[in-house]
Amino acid sequence: MQPRIEAGVLGATGMVGQHFIRFLANHPWFQVTWVGASDRSAGKKYSEATAWRLGGTMPAAVADLTVEECKPGKGAPKLVFSATDASVATEIEQSFAKAGHTVVSNSRNHRMEADVPLLVPEVNPEHLGVLPLQKQNRGWSGQIVTNPNCSTIVLAMALAPLKPFGIERTLVTTMQAISGAGYPGVASMDINANVIPFIGSEEEKMESETQKILGAFDGAAFNAHPMAVSAQCNRVPVVDGHLVAVSVQLAAKAGEAELIGAMNAFRGAPQERGLPSAPAQPVIYMSDRDRPQPRRDVERENGMVVFTGRMRKCPVFDFKFLALGHNTVRGAAGAAVLNAELMHSEGIL
Ligand code: NAP
Repeated sequence: MQPRIEAGVLGATGMVGQHFIRFLANHPWFQVTWVGASDRSAGKKYSEATAWRLGGTMPAAVADLTVEECKPGKGAPKLVFSATDASVATEIEQSFAKAGHTVVSNSRNHRMEADVPLLVPEVNPEHLGVLPLQKQNRGWSGQIVTNPNCSTIVLAMALAPLKPFGIERTLVTTMQAISGAGYPGVASMDINANVIPFIGSEEEKMESETQKILGAFDGAAFNAHPMAVSAQCNRVPVVDGHLVAVSVQLAAKAGEAELIGAMNAFRGAPQERGLPSAPAQPVIYMSDRDRPQPRRDVERENGMVVFTGRMRKCPVFDFKFLALGHNTVRGAAGAAVLNAELMHSEGIL
């Protein structure tokens, strides 16, 4: 067996950081050997610095690691996953890339930059082609790769199989889980038996990120996919799982069965290469008329699949359907780990 690649986690003590630690426990290729956080945590054992908030116990292999400050030159391995607070992520991630690290980030800070891939391995693996340009532009020996916002990735994966039909316009309404707001997140008095029809910057992220993800990389620049995206985002009293109601207008005449067939047949580089975290089928259409449902479906397939359902004709656009994804797995740590697996499979870690 090959020795595993050492990996660090920036922001390891936070909510997303903990999801990285849990997702990477027993990973066949990567081993967490380094954890970083703020100077409030630096110098403490990970188990002392971290209030473990996920199900199960803290993986023993990281509990005794000493938390370092998020500065390069503190023994961090070449590969670092980033889950640092957005207020500091720009500076921290850039300092690591400059110092030669590969930063696989979950933060929003660099997603929309012209020389940074916003990667979904099944959808746009060719966007990694921008990395030589990124290094040249920035004078970095390292690199930064990002994954999308947690509701955007659900939409992008559900729409990707429909691209051959020519997506012209899409209108989406989200029902987003409270875990997407981190910890302590939304006050219980606000979210219990209620819906909050506002999530800061979420609609803008869904609209711009989806166009970049589905767009083409022409060897020099990303060209946004020429479709209009309109999003309305809502927080609902669900623990895990973002459900998205999608209406879509297509250029080609197609029937429901063709669209469902395209979703179920959709595969990408992770499946072809058998990457360790890749689901066998990334988009699964559920034919029961009341599925997908967050509580029943979101944990299936290790949280890495987008479930779709209720495909039907739309009297305004052409078709409408539902899509569901695990916001802290496929929408955060699992997405970033799959990005790193894709990069390793291409020899660019
Ligand atoms: P969080 O629980 O508040 O954790 C923030 C992490 O950043 C902690 O490890 C914290 O360390 C560290 N940090 C704070 N200030 C720092 C500084 N000055 N220098 C170095 N490290 C510092 O936040 P989160 O919910 O995990 O979110 C982390 C990132 O992921 C954010 O960029 C967020 O936008 C993004 N994100 C979150 C979600 C989600 O579901 N929560 C989903 C997608 C993306 P200490 O413990 O030492 O303070």
